[in-house]
Amino acid sequence: MNIKQNFEAITTKIEEAAKKAGVSPSSIKLLAVTKTHPVSVLDEAIAAGLTCIAENKVQELTTKIPQLTNKPEEIHFIGHLQSNKINKLLSVKPDLIHSIDKISTLKKLNTKLEEMGLNQDILIQVNTSNEDSKSGINPNEFMDFIEQAKQFKCIKIKGLMTIGALTTDEEKIRNCFKLLKQLQLKAIEKYTDIDFGILSMGMSHDFEIAIEEGANMLRVGSLLFGNRFYA
Ligand SMILES: *Cc1c(COP(=O)(O)O)cnc(C)c1O
Repeated sequence: MNIKQNFEAITTKIEEAAKKAGVSPSSIKLLAVTKTHPVSVLDEAIAAGLTCIAENKVQELTTKIPQLTNKPEEIHFIGHLQSNKINKLLSVKPDLIHSIDKISTLKKLNTKLEEMGLNQDILIQVNTSNEDSKSGINPNEFMDFIEQAKQFKCIKIKGLMTIGALTTDEEKIRNCFKLLKQLQLKAIEKYTDIDFGILSMGMSHDFEIAIEEGANMLRVGSLLFGNRFYA
């Protein structure tokens, strides 16, 4: 497993897909999803130039970050956020929380941020695949969700996030990404004072499709670091 070589190979693929999509590769941010991997792997990744780190568990993220030799430029939280973990998550000052799908969580997050005198960038997670197991709001509820989310003064909406359908059927995956893009455009049209610029979509097996459909933030784990081993 050579992280630097994997990173280079993915960079080439991102460049090719971006060219196909008619966008600049530099407009696409690659996040290194380091969940389940030890601190040494994160240090190696950051040294190789993967400076944006993403984790999906609050406990794991907050344990690993203080142990790093190389500090990441950005810390992203991409997992389900339980409201009793909010304080802990905020202690590492995440640059972006991708996985907001409950107004009740936003409300608690906002209260805590007010106390701390901080603002927080977030994405709204949409369940575009209609799979019950997936987090994210129903696409039909998206506009209502914004209407409620925009009232929280310390919350800064920055865009949308989704996980593509878990299937080998490329069209099904592509439709998920198309739907997220459509929702983004709809939101931009209605809310000119909110920034919906980020489309976080695309993982190891589908990031090229995601780029073709407008992704500008990719969350890649196994293609960089190999298979995950769960204890
Ligand atoms: C694990 C994870 C990823 C990365 O998955 P890979 O298939 O290993 O690239 C991306 N997004 C989320 C939300 C994840 O939990």
